[in-house]
Amino acid sequence: MIELRGLTKHFGATAAVEDLSFTVQPGHVTGFLGPNGAGKSTTMRMILGLDRPTSGVALVNGKPYAELTNPLRQVGALLDARWVHPNRSARAHLQWMAASNGIPKSRVDEVLRLVGLSEVAGKQAGGFSLGMSQRLGLAGALLGDPQVLLFDEPVNGLDPEGIVWIRKFMQRLAAEGRTVLVSSHLLSEMAQTAEHLVVIGRGRLISDSTVGEFIERS
Ligand code: ADP
Ligand code: ADP
Repeated sequence: MIELRGLTKHFGATAAVEDLSFTVQPGHVTGFLGPNGAGKSTTMRMILGLDRPTSGVALVNGKPYAELTNPLRQVGALLDARWVHPNRSARAHLQWMAASNGIPKSRVDEVLRLVGLSEVAGKQAGGFSLGMSQRLGLAGALLGDPQVLLFDEPVNGLDPEGIVWIRKFMQRLAAEGRTVLVSSHLLSEMAQTAEHLVVIGRGRLISDSTVGEFIERS
């Protein structure tokens, strides 16, 4: 589960995230909707301990990220800007991630299979298409078999097949009982992906309901 309590982040005079409180439950995909600049990435970065809140807390399974034992086993993320060494193979990249997080090497081939990259595992990640890079990012997120998964605008720039593939993958993860939070600036995309929807604007909470209820009200 993810729980935000009064989460706030100011960058100088910019209130990127302002007093945000909501919880994300397991078992269904939760969409995180808002226009560009609404504060979605900043919120996700705070959940992942990459940005420090100005005030308030973001909890994963009841604890701030910094206090999680073995964080990769509790929360995985597919963020917009991932960095993969271009000259490293997909497998080498994941092996390095596994080794630095105490995850057994055998898990690498398992996640490569889950995301459909087994065939190209030995190829340099620098030559991957966006769709393949996304799958590699996803493989990294799944390495620790975490119960909580965050996706920041995962379908941006993907072709229709790639969009459907990642949508179904997220829905399957949620159906397995995981907590899945996915951001988007498109209601149409969220309507097809998520069951629950948290909407923000200018860093503030606008709505927290089922997708159906939100569409009826708007
Ligand atoms: P979204 O992901 O919804 O597009 P962001 O979280 O990226 O929104 O940005 C929210 C606001 O915070 C924007 O006004 C953005 O310009 C600002 N912002 C984000 N990161 C920084 C940063 N590192 N320094 C200054 N301002 C930032
Ligand atoms: P498998 O049966 O593929 O060896 P498991 O027995 O560990 O894998 O998991 C059972 C189900 O969960 C399978 O559908 C598998 O694809 C899926 N699964 C396993 N680990 C993950 C993960 N980290 N993320 C998403 N799905 C996973």
